[in-house]
Amino acid sequence: GAYTRVAERQVDSVCPYCGVGCQLTYHVQGERIDRVEGRAGPANDGRLCVKGRFGFDYIHHPDRLTVPLVRRADAPKNPALLTQGPGGRTDMAAVRAQFREATWDEALALAAEGLMRVRDAQPAKGRGAAVAGFGSAKGTNEEAYLFQKLIRSAFHTHNVDHCTRLCHASSVAALMEGIGSGAVSNPLRDVAHAEFIFLIGANPAVNHPVGASWIKNAVKRGARLVLADPRRTELARHAWRTLTFQPGSDVALLNAMLYVILSEGLTDDAFIAERTQDYARLRDHILNGPEHGGEDWRPEAMAPICGIDAETIREVARAYATAPSSMILWGMGVSQHTHGTDNARCLIALAMVTGQIGRPGTGLHPLRGQNNVQGASDAGLIPMVLPDYQGVANASAREQAERLWGLPPGALDVQPGLTVVEIIDAAYDGQIRAMLIQGENPAMSDPDATHAREALARLEHLVVQDIFLTETAALADVVLPATAWPEKTGTVTNTDRTVQLGRKAVAAPGQARADAWITEQLAQRLGLPWAYGIAADGSGAEPDSGIGRVYEEMRALMPSIAGLSWRRLLQAGAVTHPVRSEDDPGQPIVFMDRFSTPSGKARLVPVGLREPAERPDAEYPLVLVTGRQLEHWHTGSMTRRSDVLDALEPAPTVSLHPATIERLGLQPGAWARITSRRGEAHVRVRADEGIQPHVAFMPFAYVEAAANLLTIAALDPVGKIAEVKYCAVRIAAHAPA
Ligand code: SF4
Repeated sequence: GAYTRVAERQVDSVCPYCGVGCQLTYHVQGERIDRVEGRAGPANDGRLCVKGRFGFDYIHHPDRLTVPLVRRADAPKNPALLTQGPGGRTDMAAVRAQFREATWDEALALAAEGLMRVRDAQPAKGRGAAVAGFGSAKGTNEEAYLFQKLIRSAFHTHNVDHCTRLCHASSVAALMEGIGSGAVSNPLRDVAHAEFIFLIGANPAVNHPVGASWIKNAVKRGARLVLADPRRTELARHAWRTLTFQPGSDVALLNAMLYVILSEGLTDDAFIAERTQDYARLRDHILNGPEHGGEDWRPEAMAPICGIDAETIREVARAYATAPSSMILWGMGVSQHTHGTDNARCLIALAMVTGQIGRPGTGLHPLRGQNNVQGASDAGLIPMVLPDYQGVANASAREQAERLWGLPPGALDVQPGLTVVEIIDAAYDGQIRAMLIQGENPAMSDPDATHAREALARLEHLVVQDIFLTETAALADVVLPATAWPEKTGTVTNTDRTVQLGRKAVAAPGQARADAWITEQLAQRLGLPWAYGIAADGSGAEPDSGIGRVYEEMRALMPSIAGLSWRRLLQAGAVTHPVRSEDDPGQPIVFMDRFSTPSGKARLVPVGLREPAERPDAEYPLVLVTGRQLEHWHTGSMTRRSDVLDALEPAPTVSLHPATIERLGLQPGAWARITSRRGEAHVRVRADEGIQPHVAFMPFAYVEAAANLLTIAALDPVGKIAEVKYCAVRIAAHAPA
């Protein structure tokens, strides 16, 4: 048939899902991806997980946006449409009927005019500006760079952020403060050289599966794995010790470990003297807490709080400190708390007082979630910093950007902008009145989703650029159809800091256009002097392409990739930054002899106990923890449109301990209603002995039972991350209407 007459071609790229950054090859028939194979990339060496191998067909789904859409004048924005379809799903037909088709010219003109109208009607700048933007951790580095440049240049504000705020913002805040760099010190595969692996608040078997396979290989080779998590997850089978601690008690556990190390003389005193500062303050805080009215951090005193017996805390602390090489890896379980920054400060302190950093098999590795959350952050998609983490208060960094971007002196604001949840709150309150959203889905991903959806609906003008009519796009005024990852050329940076090139494999459907082209078109209509000549069809893997010109401009602002030219990248395909010069091979392991702080030394920051924002009580007696599944990715917009993945996990679930299921009169597989102070959802009950009896776990990928309808928007005061890993709920048997 027609299928066999079309010659197959192979295109090398990178997996679009998680931060591991597995290299793959698309096997393409005509304009359809037929299958995917792993390639020998630095992070995966040919391995792929189920998402990378089978999760590609979403790009061919009939739901793809293929033509620009404009809201009909008689169709008011209605967040209720997101929950009124069959089974509580979005009523897509009703949503689609709110829009009419438009030409690209008309849609771009309307998009730009609306943004300018709001900007000019409310001339406040900086944090008080009326316009904000959410870029994406799933786009390329070039797209992230252009997006932040557009918001900053056209609207004189740093109100631009992305889902790093919901991911590792607290880890990055602690790492920047402590060691002057928010990225990992050692790559994931360096677990091969670790004798001891401390994995906390992460479930890599589900969220970084190929990374988990390297951890299992390390255990087989003889490394000791400690899994510290409120949930006993799959890697527990491979662990030397499993610390199933109380949700939200990270600081109690980690400071008790520090107490053991300091009180038993297990410190690396030479390292502390040469490489750290403020040690005396930390030591006094940990060892003499009660003398200053603080906590007693002895394991015996912390055991009742964290739920781990004192002897196990001592054993694990001793093993971490005394192993020849110990590595710490952590995930959202550490970061997504009102005390997320404090949790990460403790992990940094553990590595510093024991000198477990700066060598193979040691160091600190915050496991990045999205494929390009590292790169989007590097590229400046953050309200406090310009590209390469140069603070917006830094006059010379601002001047350099203004010169390169063709802006008049003083055009860039000196004040950091608002963060994700702050922007949503400002939209709710009427300060933010227009937004540009590229490839993010805050109507699903933001905490307290009812509030977030209402905030988006209140915007006077919302422009959304995406591949599907997402729950966020359903509330837009203008929807611009964009490209999926295999339809464009660009770079992404994985959890290891490795910059990798993805090549366009297939054409985008209908009139869908490359995201970077859309941003350039908008910029020109907003009066900015942009002339990259970005291709509308997503091509660009040539030395002098438009997207290559964007990359080269970005490189001029980013010392971390100064030695990695577009030409070199086209040849090498993957290089790990920092890469300072053309002959620098890149540096997978950093901090060998100094940290990136001004003094070169690590800052040690003592932290106390902080309660979660909302504790269980008689009315809402269970703790809700949200997260991901192996088969589904984040808000589900891609994986729920992938046949294999959606067939494996077709319905929303809540995982509960069998004893809890019995106590509440529930049945595994049957429906239950889960309720918090902010909303409710109907989910199927799943038994899981790894869950503690007072805890419920729920994935957030299902629009028909959005976990974020339940979560709380309480923020970490430093990282401004929301506490989506802890809120109070109740559960009862109940079938959906
Ligand atoms: Fe893709 Fe991550 Fe799976 Fe690798 S481990 S195939 S990057 S989802």
